[in-house]
Amino acid sequence: MYGAAAADDDSAADIRKDAPMRFNPKARLDTSRVRDSGRGGGLGGGSAGIPIPGGTMAGGGIGTLIVIVLIFVLSQCMGGGVGLPTGGGQAQGGTDTSRMDDSERYANCKTGADAEGDVDCARIGVENSLYSYWSQETPELGAEFTPAQMRTFSGAVSTGCGQASSQVGPFYCPADQTIYLDTTFFDDVLESQLGGQGGEFVEPYVIGHEYGHHIQNLLGIMGQVRTQKGPESDAVRLELQADCFAGVWTRAATGTADESGVKIFAEVNEQDITEALDSAKAVGDDRIQQRSGGGVNPEGWTHGSSEQRMRWFNAGYESGDPSACDTFNATEL
Ligand SMILES: [Zn+2]
Repeated sequence: MYGAAAADDDSAADIRKDAPMRFNPKARLDTSRVRDSGRGGGLGGGSAGIPIPGGTMAGGGIGTLIVIVLIFVLSQCMGGGVGLPTGGGQAQGGTDTSRMDDSERYANCKTGADAEGDVDCARIGVENSLYSYWSQETPELGAEFTPAQMRTFSGAVSTGCGQASSQVGPFYCPADQTIYLDTTFFDDVLESQLGGQGGEFVEPYVIGHEYGHHIQNLLGIMGQVRTQKGPESDAVRLELQADCFAGVWTRAATGTADESGVKIFAEVNEQDITEALDSAKAVGDDRIQQRSGGGVNPEGWTHGSSEQRMRWFNAGYESGDPSACDTFNATEL
């Protein structure tokens, strides 16, 4: 199924265990788009926010997810009409840097060597790779590239999409074009699901998926989602496309490190991907929906099944081509 790229011999497995990501030690890491706001209990963070209750659709509350889901409404992939972002309200958010605390979390991330064995600096490396890749690809897809910002936090954070608490998994907020990651929550999931073993590809996959949402935003695909419920809905197609984009990038990011800065994976195999997709379920929309609404309603699922997610990730991975990610015109998901 996963085919060619999966190497099964022991030596490859050992390499993977020790160093699934392999950074060019001399590559300079650019931390300029990644910030950390530290612990955000009620301390800083412009605490006027509403603490993610359940229920309300509009307004702050459930905020992050619901807003995102609403915005993830689109009607087609990158076929016609994908010019510049369709000015549909959400696309152009700037970054509110005034709200960002300048922590020292990433201050020591200078080179690829720093990213080896350091999850914080590795995160920078992943962002740098995504930035390099999509800054080249997005214009070819017909849109101007502007980078996503990334912000890590723990506890709570206030965002352009409302207040987010620690129950919220990683998400992309179109309004401020920022990927938010609660890294402690992330650690907890890895610990409980994988017992702290392996899972090195989980976070890169999740960031790749969220970056895929940013690209969808730039392409004007968001804001065109018409249907949000049910297994064939636009919202599911949007999620599967983000998985496919993550796969496309993963392909580009795998191999011998070079000057492009895109290639950060020595090898990614089927086990890494399965692990990542399974773990991501726990930090994805399903979980948020469960937390905020009390029980997952299959009709409201926004991701598609695990099989579908794997299939679309692989469609991107095997083709290495974003145009293979046209989930909106696919007759079968
Ligand atoms: Zn998503």
